[in-house]
Amino acid sequence: MDIKSVQEGVKSPFIENIEEYVVVFLDIDNIRYINDTFGHSIGDKFLSMFGNRLSQIVGEEGIVFKYNDGEYVILLHKNEKELIDKKIQFILNESNKVFKEEDYEILSTASIGVYTPNSNDKIDDIIKKAYIAMYQGKTEGKGNYKHFTNSIEEKIKRKTLLTKELTKSIERNYEGLYLIYQPIYNVVEKKIDEAEALMRWKNQELGEISPAEFIPIAEEMGLIRKLGYWLIKKVLRQIKEWNKEGLNLKIAINISPQQVAEKDFLKKIKETIHEEDIDFRQIKLEITETQILKLDEQRFKDLTELINLGVDIALDDFGEGYSSIKSLVFSPITEVKIDKIFIDSIHQDEKIQKLISSIIYTVHGLGYKVIAEGVEYKEQFDKLLEYGCDKIQGYYIERPIDEKKIVEFIKGFHNTPYAI
Ligand code: C2E
Ligand code: CA
Ligand code: CA
Repeated sequence: MDIKSVQEGVKSPFIENIEEYVVVFLDIDNIRYINDTFGHSIGDKFLSMFGNRLSQIVGEEGIVFKYNDGEYVILLHKNEKELIDKKIQFILNESNKVFKEEDYEILSTASIGVYTPNSNDKIDDIIKKAYIAMYQGKTEGKGNYKHFTNSIEEKIKRKTLLTKELTKSIERNYEGLYLIYQPIYNVVEKKIDEAEALMRWKNQELGEISPAEFIPIAEEMGLIRKLGYWLIKKVLRQIKEWNKEGLNLKIAINISPQQVAEKDFLKKIKETIHEEDIDFRQIKLEITETQILKLDEQRFKDLTELINLGVDIALDDFGEGYSSIKSLVFSPITEVKIDKIFIDSIHQDEKIQKLISSIIYTVHGLGYKVIAEGVEYKEQFDKLLEYGCDKIQGYYIERPIDEKKIVEFIKGFHNTPYAI
């Protein structure tokens, strides 16, 4: 255990009477940024100031230890939870201030994890648990504190397991990974001419794992880029197969933030579509709103180029986050995908009806198409038709199905009630 005291001469007291303390793990969120931006010499001064300040803030109520650069372990004397929480919040607020050094002003934020040890806990485990709580808190948003719970530990264990298994799958030529496709109904043409590709993973030991679980992990652990390229290749080959059978579907591909952020990603997509000799008009990329707002000018140019070649760009999950007029007006998109949260009550809630009908009106005014997702009932479908929605996706039309079933589904589609 490598713990260095902030103040010289303070000896680690917590081996004998650790149960008398609450253990706090503090991590400065942007220490790397500070070192990279201001240089290590300023970074070191900042750290030394930060450590001293931390000791002052904690004062008589505990002891501060330096753990690593930008990481501290603080022992607070046990107290009522409310008082401890108040103290920790105070430490966080104080960590959030501007530090002045020479001509520089440095703004730092910190994340904190808290663990209340039992007398038989081992010191390594205690720090690990406080660290785990800090780490979990950070993934939910920097600058906060979180108490350790067993469910956090379970979550981390599960994440570690899935990362290991997913890495193994990728190494074994994407073993257990496959795609299914959810048909999309074209209201104007009254036919199915699109589908969304959705990733699935069946692991030998763990069984079927939902993309809602493994995609965020793949994104966080840096596995999504490989998965993304694999998926695109797979979709393009599938399109070719369908084309041979006379079925010319446009396929929507979900794109993760890390993929678009990659420098050559959009260029590579362009090349791959070209190489596979697929019509650009058979491809749609779905990018979420929060994601598109972060893109730089070059990415906007790349996306515009793809649009000019015939690729559709959909603004996915529209309305799920903080919807911005900016993203609607300035982003290079061709369509807006209204999130399921609005569709859920569109047949019952008058306010939602007013909102959605005016969103559709506005989006059309901007020259984009509108697609609704998560449509499960006829009443929802009818409302969307009434408001002039262009495309409909959801269990009411069909669930995501495999590449063979979709062919059959489309063949029999003219017999369905909504195809009239
Ligand atoms: P998403 O892009 O919003 O995809 C729509 C999700 O809603 C899919 O869940 C789909 O099965 C589900 N869904 C469709 N219609 C209905 C409906 O009528 N009712 C209900 N309750 N659900 C419906 P799925 O396949 O579990 O995917 C979850 C999320 O995982 C996706 O949300 C997407 O964010 C991500 N994802 C899935 N495949 C990929 C992929 O290949 N790449 C990336 N980057 N993300 C993916
Ligand atoms: Ca999507
Ligand atoms: Ca969506």
